[in-house]
Amino acid sequence: MEQIHITLPDGSVQEVPKGTTPADIARKISPRLADAALVARVAAPNDGEGELIDLRRPLDRDVKLQILTEKDPDALFVFRHSAAHLLAAAVVELFPNVKLGIGPPIDTGFFYEFLREEPFTQEDLAKIEKKMHELAAQDLPNERKLIPKPEALDLYKKSNQLFKCELVEEKATEPMVSFYTTGKFIDFCRGPHIPSTKRIQAFKLMNVAGAYWKGQEGNPQLQRIYAVAFFTQKELDEYLHRLEEAKRRDHRKLGVELDLFSIQEEAGPGLIFWQPKGGLIRKIVEDWLRDELLKRGYDLVFTPHIMRRDLWKTSGHTNFYKDSMFGPIEVEKGEYQLKPMNCPGHILIYKSKLRSYRDLPVRLAELGTVYRYERSGVLHGLMRVRGFTQDDAHIFCMPSQIEAEVEACVDFAYAVMKNFGFDKFEVELSDWDPAHPENYPGKAEDWQHASDSLATTLARMDIPYKKVA
Ligand SMILES: [Zn+2]
Ligand SMILES: [Zn+2]
Repeated sequence: MEQIHITLPDGSVQEVPKGTTPADIARKISPRLADAALVARVAAPNDGEGELIDLRRPLDRDVKLQILTEKDPDALFVFRHSAAHLLAAAVVELFPNVKLGIGPPIDTGFFYEFLREEPFTQEDLAKIEKKMHELAAQDLPNERKLIPKPEALDLYKKSNQLFKCELVEEKATEPMVSFYTTGKFIDFCRGPHIPSTKRIQAFKLMNVAGAYWKGQEGNPQLQRIYAVAFFTQKELDEYLHRLEEAKRRDHRKLGVELDLFSIQEEAGPGLIFWQPKGGLIRKIVEDWLRDELLKRGYDLVFTPHIMRRDLWKTSGHTNFYKDSMFGPIEVEKGEYQLKPMNCPGHILIYKSKLRSYRDLPVRLAELGTVYRYERSGVLHGLMRVRGFTQDDAHIFCMPSQIEAEVEACVDFAYAVMKNFGFDKFEVELSDWDPAHPENYPGKAEDWQHASDSLATTLARMDIPYKKVA
């Protein structure tokens, strides 16, 4: 029989007959590994990434093989995908007439979409959850099946699964189409999946949300059942507990309970009203900030909330920031726009008179109120709003002064965070992209100099950081 060579993560090589599965190899390594194994990663001998495959998938060539267990985050994703299939299997058993959409794993769990006339109720969810546990306990294998495309389409046409037909038509590029069965349930799916349902125990169906088929308005509206899922009950409990705590501390709830701020439908969404108590807190915060700014050599300025549109053209905002700005307002035949940022205002103040290099650095600071257009769907309490006040400053200095200024800024930021009790944070350095100088106004060497100054300063201050583009 033809032999193939399997390279394991420790570098050892096993010679095995062609057709050996990752599960076979896991068993050979140790019964414990075989028991814990969820999915495998294979890569060509000279390839880094590789792909995830079922443990029962026969290997037919030399590969690097890794057996994944609960310790691997990729395995959690596969696990949640299998849980999504389990959800669909349960729903189809209880509500045989549903039409199936898609069911992928997501951040903390998974969802599956269904078309059904009546909305799923809380009682339905409880029933479905119970059915899922029943099916899970039966230890149903998740089995891959290859079906010729015409047969696959036929299968879905017969069962009236129009969305699935559409998916097969669009996504199946090979003559044989990959399906997975979980007991009686069958699903068009690339996989991979964990070997069987028995491990899927720590999950909870959370809620139902409407979603257009393929996310496109005008398409039929499906019901998405969202769930969270973890490897262990302990992880699930901890997650649900954190969720409860977060709900209890939701600033939108606290804001109302403590009478700090409000959002008034009459005035419009995303616009914040500071009630007297919130106003007092805000004053205390602002006073502290302004004092600190003055102490640190900043000059306080105030700039208008609305300025000529031409200014926003000059600054480039009407080009690059257009989507986040409120539209133009006509005033005496001239066009004006609400300010989304304070920079142009500060620059106007800077260039309002002749400056000597001896005046530098000039530090202009403003608790500047800005307005940005956000779609109403993304607005969220005080976090995503249409008008807010920034602690904003612009420093005009000589290149030789950059590093000292950056250091002072970082020191300021640390002082603010310390004062407000934030002691756990990470530092990211936003770098320019030398490969695309066309995206940056001004000279490349200035950008490089500025970038280098930031990195050098962080290094000198001994601050660990992550570079981001
Ligand atoms: Zn799937
Ligand atoms: Zn700015």
